[in-house]
Amino acid sequence: MAYDDNNIFARILRGEIPAKPVYEDEYVLAINDINPQAPTHILVMPKGKYVSFDDFSAKASDAEITAFMRATGKIARDAGVDATGYRLIFNHGPDSHQEVPHLHVHILGGRPMGFLIARTAA
Ligand code: 5GP
Repeated sequence: MAYDDNNIFARILRGEIPAKPVYEDEYVLAINDINPQAPTHILVMPKGKYVSFDDFSAKASDAEITAFMRATGKIARDAGVDATGYRLIFNHGPDSHQEVPHLHVHILGGRPMGFLIARTAA
């Protein structure tokens, strides 16, 4: 899948749509989810143009991957959810219900997260 330069996170990264960063560095931007599903619901995204985890894991540089992983852990700690626990979700592609085609990981915490996924037919 080709990267769509007009996806909403690309526009946020370009500053066309205002967003208050929770965290930012050379490689990474994190923002609060507009429709939070838990008391803490943060989206962490690389600044590079990657459609999803599949794209990122195959093509990103070691520096980008390291920065993304380190930042995600730090953001969760800074949000105070490391002690009680949190869930990380990456959605890739239609079966996952990925809505925004720019890689992001959801950090969800601040309450028990329940079952891993909805218990529908396997
Ligand atoms: P996905 O389904 O792609 O893994 O998750 C996309 C997430 O982005 C959803 O949880 C949705 O609420 C969030 N989202 C969509 N548009 C915006 C936006 O303009 N700003 C912010 N902060 N979050 C958004």
